[in-house]
Amino acid sequence: MSAIRLRFAPSPTGYLHVGGARTALFNWLLARKLGGTFILRIEDTDVARSTEESVNAILEGMKWLGLDWDEGPFFQSDLFPVYREYVQKLLEQGKAYRCYCSAEELEAKRERALAEGRKPKYDGTCRGITHEIPGKPFVIRFRAPQDGVTSFDDLVKGPISFNNEELDDLIIQRTDGTPIYNFTVVIDDATMKISTVIRGDDHISNTPRQILLYEALGFPVPRFAHVPMILGSDKARLSKRHGATSVMAYRDMGYLPEAMVNYLVRLGWSHGDDELFSREELIEKFTVEAIGKSAGVFNPDKLLWLNAHYIKSGDPTRLAELLLPFLLERGVDPAAGGPELATAIVTLQERARTMLELADGALFYYRSEVCYDEAAAVKQLTPTQLPHLTAFARQLASWDDMTSAGVEALFKEFCAAQGIKMGMIGPSVRVALCGVTTSPAIYDVVAVLGREETMGRLERAISFITDRPE
Ligand code: GLU
Repeated sequence: MSAIRLRFAPSPTGYLHVGGARTALFNWLLARKLGGTFILRIEDTDVARSTEESVNAILEGMKWLGLDWDEGPFFQSDLFPVYREYVQKLLEQGKAYRCYCSAEELEAKRERALAEGRKPKYDGTCRGITHEIPGKPFVIRFRAPQDGVTSFDDLVKGPISFNNEELDDLIIQRTDGTPIYNFTVVIDDATMKISTVIRGDDHISNTPRQILLYEALGFPVPRFAHVPMILGSDKARLSKRHGATSVMAYRDMGYLPEAMVNYLVRLGWSHGDDELFSREELIEKFTVEAIGKSAGVFNPDKLLWLNAHYIKSGDPTRLAELLLPFLLERGVDPAAGGPELATAIVTLQERARTMLELADGALFYYRSEVCYDEAAAVKQLTPTQLPHLTAFARQLASWDDMTSAGVEALFKEFCAAQGIKMGMIGPSVRVALCGVTTSPAIYDVVAVLGREETMGRLERAISFITDRPE
């Protein structure tokens, strides 16, 4: 058997939706697992709705998720001559015909059918017309079989059959000469030798029509795997009203691509009770057979949990690269001074659930002019604390070991010498250094800031207390 060929075929009419991203991911995983080929095809035949901006958004989303493609991106708008050629072939073989019915006529017939309780279906008025009618606009319809059954064995849903009687004589080319999705998708999947089509189950009703076209054109029919839709918490199809549905919006909200990938794959695929999968594990374990038959419900809490996991366990140097834009956005450039970002991240990654939280948490390291939280200052930067802070600063000035463990030893020695408890100095130092009462472990903060910066901040806090009117 030749190697598997898969594709992701988005229509560029918006952004990369989480549902589309999951479809892309499933295709990509299977291609990588089986050493196959993953193709990206942009379905932009709907010229009015397709935009370059949207194409870029899709490419950006794919790159962010690390879903690299082996062929493409192909654009259907470049392939109009190919489609026309195949339309011509079907016309010549009598498998397609020109339909001159006007939109008004069709609409009237549709309404009549509905009024009489019949399912609206093209009535075949133009099926028998063999000559061209000059000057009259026409669409081209596929001459679909009137009886029989079209079946396929869906890799996710199992055997599915449609009565051909139910299927219309599909329009394959519009009056303006542009081809229709159900036709272009068949031509492309066939000529690009796609062997398995994994896509959303909103396309299930298109599949029998497409199979009939494959057969009419003499192409082998690919295998199909229709993946259930993603639902919102109210079990309605996931939409904007449930929250962000654009993959890139999640990046902007501080999610890591590995969290998104791990989250998306589990929305419709499972491997026992496992929740955490590295990319390598996914490639190894992914199978189409384990895609669930029922729809996944989008759960933002779980995504957040995964994100926290990947931040906590992430490589600080890589997190630093990803964090930089968020810091720059906040007016902080670590390159301009302050601790090395990766070092600062080590003290913060345990607790941050998103890159936004990580960025916000890192700000104090780069802002010497600490802005004291009012309540924290009232409690910790008081005249009572003044002697402790002053004595601590003095001891720090001659302290050599500025590792986290060394700083811990300093605090211990200081407390013992002063006969005070850690609670009488730690919180004040914390507010002096960070401005707030919550921060990473104080020993880590001092170690990361270094002696000079810590001294500067202590002195500022001391002046703040001294200058503050009683
Ligand atoms: N362009 C179609 C869509 O975005 C893709 C359909 C398919 O995968 O066959 O829904």
